[in-house]
Amino acid sequence: MLSSVFPHEAHWIYLVATLVTIVPFGRRAVALALAGTPFSIETLMCAAALGAVGIGAAEEAAVVVLLFAVGELLENVAAGQARAGIRALSSLIPRIARREGVAGQIEEVTPTLLRLDDIVQVRPGDRVACDGEIVEGNSALDESPITGESVPVARGPGEPVMAGSINADGVLRVRVTRAAADNTVARIVRLVEEASASRAPTQRFVERFARWWTPAAMGAALLVVLVPPLVFDANWWTWTYRGLALLLIACPCALVISVPAAIASGLSAGARRGLLVKGGAALEAIGAARTVAFDKTGTLTEGKPRVTDVVPLRDGTDEKRVLAYAASVEEGSAHPLALAISAAAAECGVAVPPAIDARAIPGRAVQAMVGGRRIAVGSPRYAGEAGPGLDPATLARAEMLEAEGKTVVVVMVNEEPFGLVAMRDEPRADAAAGIGALRSLGVHAIMLTGDNERTGRAIAGKLGLEVRAGLLPEDKLREIAALKAKGPVIMVGDGINDAPALAAASVGVALGGGTDVALETADAALMGERVSGVAELVALSRATLANIQQNVGVAVGLKAVFLVTTLAGLTGLWPAILADTGATVLVTLNALRLLRWTPTTHRNKTEPAATAADAPLAA
Ligand code: ADP
Ligand code: MG
Repeated sequence: MLSSVFPHEAHWIYLVATLVTIVPFGRRAVALALAGTPFSIETLMCAAALGAVGIGAAEEAAVVVLLFAVGELLENVAAGQARAGIRALSSLIPRIARREGVAGQIEEVTPTLLRLDDIVQVRPGDRVACDGEIVEGNSALDESPITGESVPVARGPGEPVMAGSINADGVLRVRVTRAAADNTVARIVRLVEEASASRAPTQRFVERFARWWTPAAMGAALLVVLVPPLVFDANWWTWTYRGLALLLIACPCALVISVPAAIASGLSAGARRGLLVKGGAALEAIGAARTVAFDKTGTLTEGKPRVTDVVPLRDGTDEKRVLAYAASVEEGSAHPLALAISAAAAECGVAVPPAIDARAIPGRAVQAMVGGRRIAVGSPRYAGEAGPGLDPATLARAEMLEAEGKTVVVVMVNEEPFGLVAMRDEPRADAAAGIGALRSLGVHAIMLTGDNERTGRAIAGKLGLEVRAGLLPEDKLREIAALKAKGPVIMVGDGINDAPALAAASVGVALGGGTDVALETADAALMGERVSGVAELVALSRATLANIQQNVGVAVGLKAVFLVTTLAGLTGLWPAILADTGATVLVTLNALRLLRWTPTTHRNKTEPAATAADAPLAA
């Protein structure tokens, strides 16, 4: 070492090195102290380094400060790896797009040059170059790189496609709906980068930890310096040295990086499998959740109800009349039931009269003026609140439909029942498996719905979960608050009409993150419309928490061992410092291991359609 060659100069070199490198940490210590956190890790570092200089261990002090800086560097390496993994998503977008010119000829351009409403041709085997809408053609699309959904989905005219998905079998003409910078993949990349860059959870952990660790280390050091000489008449110099050594060893480089490195890896691993988590705090909370509450419509079910029965209630009217009134009121509503009624009206070719003054009563009904009459469409309960409600025979009829898992709405003219419309919304293909996977993780699943008890039970019974039905939007919030009293709660919704519930839960998860709202409002989003993604999210979060625990265990364990051996005089400062370096490297490597995480919970095992499976993907 330097000191053996230049014994005298070396001391000064180390001294200067320490004093220079410690400046940024000192600044941070002062800033944190002024902000009300006097006992930060930085305070500990500075005290230890200055103490070490005081006992003539400038060399050790310099190395500790250096290692601390190296630790921060390694943290950046881990974060960089995670970021590279996320950036790899961008490489899913092909380098060329086949754009149709005005004369219908095809020209090859870079996707960044595509403008809104350009028409792009996608051949079988090609990756889609843009987010868009199919104008012509039918095909199975493999969206697995973005959504984690392994089964190709069949898409036809009017349906959306995402950049980066693979077109399996048909030629498609796609109209560009989002510029390259705003497409789904670009937004995922941006979101995850922001999530890993926000140092909030790290800072929280380190601050929480430092609040007791720093004063404890300083207190212990003080006792080591004072007690043996004062009580046992031991040598002052020996114990001052040991006390300051203790301070130096207590500097937790490995510990400080153990959390952020694991979280960055976890976020990245999830995003590449369609599990998007917006920050470490949410990732931590998901693994701790005791309960998952699901919204029914659009979350556990496909959200595409179809009208199954139309029942006229007055003499002289027919089904078409009932549908026409219902459709005219529902015209402006985006509720899944509204879409079902509009679709049924269009299918039967009924003329829909114009409505004015339409308004929604969330969780209950919609209402408008049609041809001078007040028409409302809403739950049977609302029919009873707003008017006379259903007569016993009709009520029995409605209850029978509900017991079949159908949702029944009442069409009212001037508050008097005019007809019934029943709709059925099928559970998602993997809903039962997804709930089962949660159960095997020991998480309680419950369905919250504004639909009535009978319909709710019929569907929940099939899927095997508990149900709370007949909830108005404010009741859902109250249920979530009650569940939260028993532990963290995840709320899963489609992110469109359940934003308040998503916000009220400990963690809000939006299913089918394709929509802007879902991506923006929830704490986490599942890119695929898979219920099983929720269990995968819990598993990922637990894997991350386990990784953090291993890291903290290694870091703290080594500290503890060397604290004892140093105090006992068995080892000097050097082995302790080297052990911390070793721990830093171990912790980084362990965190990077998480990048390879894959879900082990059941996926939807349905075989893809033969056409999709046999398609020449590599063509
Ligand atoms: P969910 O919890 O299943 O998502 P909502 O809270 O959105 O259900 O709605 C609860 C009930 O309110 C529906 O089952 C229906 O009876 C009634 N309702 C709400 N919106 C509408 C609408 N646009 N048209 C008809 N009925 C509606
Ligand atoms: Mg809903």
